[in-house]
Amino acid sequence: MSSIRQNIAKVTQEIREACEKCGRDTDSVQLLAVSKTKPVSAITDAIAAGQRAFGENYVQEGVDKIQHFVATEPDLALSWHFIGPIQSNKTRPIAEHFDWVHSVDRAKIARRLSEQRPDNLPPLNILLQVNTSGEASKSGVDFDELSALATEIASLPNLELRGLMSIPEKADDYNSQLSAFTALAQAKDALQQQLPDITLDTLSMGMSGDMEAAVAAGSTIVRIGTAIFGARNYS
Ligand SMILES: *Cc1c(COP(=O)(O)O)cnc(C)c1O
Repeated sequence: MSSIRQNIAKVTQEIREACEKCGRDTDSVQLLAVSKTKPVSAITDAIAAGQRAFGENYVQEGVDKIQHFVATEPDLALSWHFIGPIQSNKTRPIAEHFDWVHSVDRAKIARRLSEQRPDNLPPLNILLQVNTSGEASKSGVDFDELSALATEIASLPNLELRGLMSIPEKADDYNSQLSAFTALAQAKDALQQQLPDITLDTLSMGMSGDMEAAVAAGSTIVRIGTAIFGARNYS
């Protein structure tokens, strides 16, 4: 058994246990395998273990991997999630190749993604990245600007607003983790009341160290890299 296969089995079991602890269905949380910096061969191992959803942070690297699998495994229903910071001059390849974007935090980016989404593809699934840690974070929309941004994005034709994402400040204790995630879940519920015509069904929150709290607060996608693929080497 490859170690990637073992790691996916272990993480899947942890997700299941986190669900059981708080009384959620064990299939209500999706594992997003974050494959940034990792080679195609690592993704191939994960696919062989049954993994289908992958997260990438760098546009060109992600597009290269997507094109590789479109060419070599055209019948596999893989889903590709862009989760990194977005520069406005890089929106086109994201709109043309990815299925989901988790890191939208301004209207300009959203308008470009909608304009550049090809007509033959389904709408691009969008999560708004929310800054749940105040001054400590530069990325993510602030809670008080979320409603206006969501309302604008909900009106764009080639995007489907699905929910919220956050990368909270690191906290080691469960209660601080839980309160940051609960704040995001409540923000989604409030938005849903304001936007009854769309369905906000997704909360992308939780990584290796805080998955249990994220699941307890209602996460539907946990993003896991190192625990599946091993440490990243950026050199
Ligand atoms: C890299 C990354 C992850 C995965 O981090 P690991 O610590 O490797 O599990 C999750 N979410 C985002 C937004 C990331 O950039």
